Parts: sequence; structure tokens; C-alpha cells
Amino acid sequence: MRIDIVSIFPQLVKAVGEFGVTRIALERSILELNLWDPRDYCEDNYRRVDDRPYGGGPGMVMQAPPLAAAIRQARSSGQGRVIGLSPQGSPLDQATVERLAGEQALVLLAGRYEGIDQRLLDAEVDEELSIGDYVVAGGELPAMVLIEALVRYLPGVLGNEESAQTDSFSTGLLDWPHYTRPEIFEGKKVPSTLLGGNHNEIRRWRLRQALGQTWLRRPDLLAKRLLSEEERLLLDEFKAQLKGQESS
Ligand code: SAM
Repeated sequence: MRIDIVSIFPQLVKAVGEFGVTRIALERSILELNLWDPRDYCEDNYRRVDDRPYGGGPGMVMQAPPLAAAIRQARSSGQGRVIGLSPQGSPLDQATVERLAGEQALVLLAGRYEGIDQRLLDAEVDEELSIGDYVVAGGELPAMVLIEALVRYLPGVLGNEESAQTDSFSTGLLDWPHYTRPEIFEGKKVPSTLLGGNHNEIRRWRLRQALGQTWLRRPDLLAKRLLSEEERLLLDEFKAQLKGQESS
């Protein structure tokens, strides 16, 4: 997959490729990252990309011409859907990540200041995505969030043992709790089922926990999901165990 990022802070975005799964994806040539600085496409000598808003008010607005030139340059060599990172975009979720991971190329547009001239967004951006209902100072961190989430879905990046298919949201449920050595930490033991080696019991324990944690923390997810007969029984068991713990 090829990802081009248009940002006035390319060095900030570059850091996402220096660590973890994104670095692995780059090293294995599964991912190609290209950075485009709109300041390189300014017509004045001051490399200015922002100006005061028409109509007055606080802050500055990113100008359309340098952004348009940078996006067109990014597209000329790679094509790709243009994604604008914006608090006004659709909320980024796992289904969107999976859909976008199937694209050959993407161009990510990071805004700064009060935002971007609307005419640029109308003309060049195919889709806007938000990382949540809060505002950060620029689109670079949201772009990096999207890149890390995408990379986990690219074939050959994660090993089988850490497959994205079992992560929270992939199955419509939150992930189950994880444990590793030591077997006893500050008096607390690892659940005995996980030590027993019975694969079916371990699978049932994990599914029961995933259902239970989702029911406790994100009932909205559970409401959207049709449960199988086994899942309904396991969730009932989780609720009964919880009730038992509360009353003991
Ligand atoms: N005035 C804008 C508003 O209230 O919607 C906020 C602009 S913000 C300070 C500057 C840039 O940060 C935006 O253009 C966008 O690229 C990025 N940004 C901020 N919050 C974001 C979020 N929740 N999701 C995605 N991008 C965000």
C-alpha cells in the first residue's frame, strides 16, 4: 500500500515509520510512505500557507493553492483516494480501517490552524475522517493514528499469533483480558483455565470474557450484534459469575 501525506510538519508524521508495525511494514516493502510539504508549493518567498479568514474572527485558515498543488503532486505519482483528517469527519472505526486497508493508495491531508479553505476540501477531498469528538492542534497525529490502524491490516505485517482478526471491534466485541508470566503477581493468580491446556475451555473462557467485558463497558456494541446460542449461554454464565462475586 502506498500512503502519501500532505502536511506542513512532515518530520512529525515521518516518526510513525520509525517504530513498531509501521517500521516493519516499510522494511518489508509492504508499505510506502511519501511526505509532501505544501510550503514547497507556495508562490511567495515566505513559504506561507495560511491567511486570515474572510468574515473576520480568530485564527488563520490554510490556503487552497499550495494544498491543491501538493495533493495533485502526490496523486500524480500514486493516485489514491484523498482522506482529510477533520473533527467534522465521520468517526474513524474499525470497519472504515478495514475498508481503507483494501485500497492500493491513499493521500492523507493534515490540516492546521482553524482548518482548511472549504473550496479545497470540496474540490480535492473524497472523504473526511475524525479520530474522536475532541480537537487536536493538527491533522498529523490523526493521520498517524489512521496509518498505524491500517498497517495492522496489511497482509504480512502481523504474525498469526497477533492477528488483527481477534482485536477489539473486529468481531463486534471487545478483546478478552490477557495474562503472561509471572503466574502470581502481588498475590493475584492467572485464571486457572488459561493454565490448563484445554483448548476448547480456553476458547470458551475467552469468548465469555469478551462478551462480558463488552456487555459491561460497551453495551452499544452488543446491541448491534446478533449472538449465537453459545454466545448467549456464555454471556449468561458471565453475568451469573459476576452476581456471585458481588454477593460473596
Ligand atoms: N476549527 C476546527 C474545528 O473546530 O472543527 C478545528 C481545527 S484543528 C485546530 C486543526 C486541524 O487539526 C484540523 O484541520 C484537522 O486536520 C486536525 N484535527 C483536529 N482534531 C481532529 C480530530 N478530532 N480528528 C481528525 N483531525 C483533527
